[in-house]
Amino acid sequence: MKPVLGCIADDITGATDLALMLGRNGMPVMQFIGCPAADTPWPEEAAAVVVALKSRTAPVAEAIADSLAACRWLQACGVRQFFFKYCSTFDSTTEGNIGPVAAALREATGGGSTIFCPAFPVNQRTVYQGHLFVGDRLLSASSMRDHPLTPMKDADLVRFLGHQLPGESQVGLVGYEIVRQGAAQIRAELARLDGEGIHYVVVDALDDRHLARIAQACDGLRLLTGGSALALGLPANYRAAGWLPETTGLVEIGSQPGPAAVLSGSCSVATREQVATMAAVFPALRVDPLRLADGRQQPAELVAWATEKMQQGPVLVYASASPEAVAEAQTRLGSARAGDLVEAALAAVAAGLYREGLKQLIVAGGETSGAVLKALAIQSLRIGPEIEPGVPWTVSAVPAGLVLALKSGNFGRPDFFLRAMEMLQ
Ligand code: ADP
Repeated sequence: MKPVLGCIADDITGATDLALMLGRNGMPVMQFIGCPAADTPWPEEAAAVVVALKSRTAPVAEAIADSLAACRWLQACGVRQFFFKYCSTFDSTTEGNIGPVAAALREATGGGSTIFCPAFPVNQRTVYQGHLFVGDRLLSASSMRDHPLTPMKDADLVRFLGHQLPGESQVGLVGYEIVRQGAAQIRAELARLDGEGIHYVVVDALDDRHLARIAQACDGLRLLTGGSALALGLPANYRAAGWLPETTGLVEIGSQPGPAAVLSGSCSVATREQVATMAAVFPALRVDPLRLADGRQQPAELVAWATEKMQQGPVLVYASASPEAVAEAQTRLGSARAGDLVEAALAAVAAGLYREGLKQLIVAGGETSGAVLKALAIQSLRIGPEIEPGVPWTVSAVPAGLVLALKSGNFGRPDFFLRAMEMLQ
């Protein structure tokens, strides 16, 4: 298939979320973990590729360098349009990385206008008059206000981006009054702003119809930026242009016999509920950073325990803990060390179980997913059916055959793990 869309995502579970959105809307897609080597060919089976980076909270210069490397590979493959994907809660700091990466990508892709549209209405993220809402609250009044790495204290995206973007850049807004009128009006307003030298534009969106119109209006832009939901209207553009055959975008996974495991490193409220729900039904073992630190708990023991149990049915190994327990581990060990110990242990369990014949794996947590895929040396994924909004089953392409679900911490209902496994019965 000819390359059409090249996407750069700032984290791994966000990349999967975007790939699912494209696949569900009929676009064959493949996800790469990290920037592919320069000589990697475009995958024949895909019209879109999502490159999953780990750039959300990296130092600004590193995030720009990694994003540009991915952009160069996509350019060399000959994609027609680029998409920079970030979180629908605009996770970033006053310094970056969304603005600086978008500016670097805009320049690398020819310097045209680009839009910023994080709205994800199905997940209660909307943008009105340039302000980002989570449910009925401004972003700055939501729990994102207290995020440990990217506390979001300003919901005014026009103002916030103004701080992140290079010196003289101006940020414009295409507000709801224009968005509700239709694609032609949005296109005209983007052109008018461009004529005034305003190339960075926040766009309001309250529901999926708005997002479809915005995507339609942006068919001539080289670079779009936003949350995964903005991509829902893109396949229709490509089909209209004759670039996309009438195909289904998602691969079939079907029934999957064989050992299954869940590894959870996310401490989000949603994941902790999911862990409790699964632990009530299946064998579960808690990983404790304090015990790992002083050797009372050894990764090899975790592997041995889980290997034995997984022969009888699904197993759960989790580090997910209450804010108090996390705070205690972080105070005693330092946050970085506590996180590293947990990630290394869960990665070792994944590698050990894979060697012992693991066939299905669910990982909860973005950073945790990155560590696990690295330990398994998985380079690329095919995207299968949706489990819940934003989380599909996937199958590893290189090396082939492991069925994986990578769940962002906050996604999913309490019985997510159980229902995900039931889908493969
Ligand atoms: P999320 O998607 O919810 O943000 P991540 O996997 O990205 O989840 O991040 C969770 C981080 O918390 C990881 O670095 C993980 O290693 C760390 N962590 C998990 N459990 C604990 C714990 N009990 N104590 C301290 N840190 C933990």
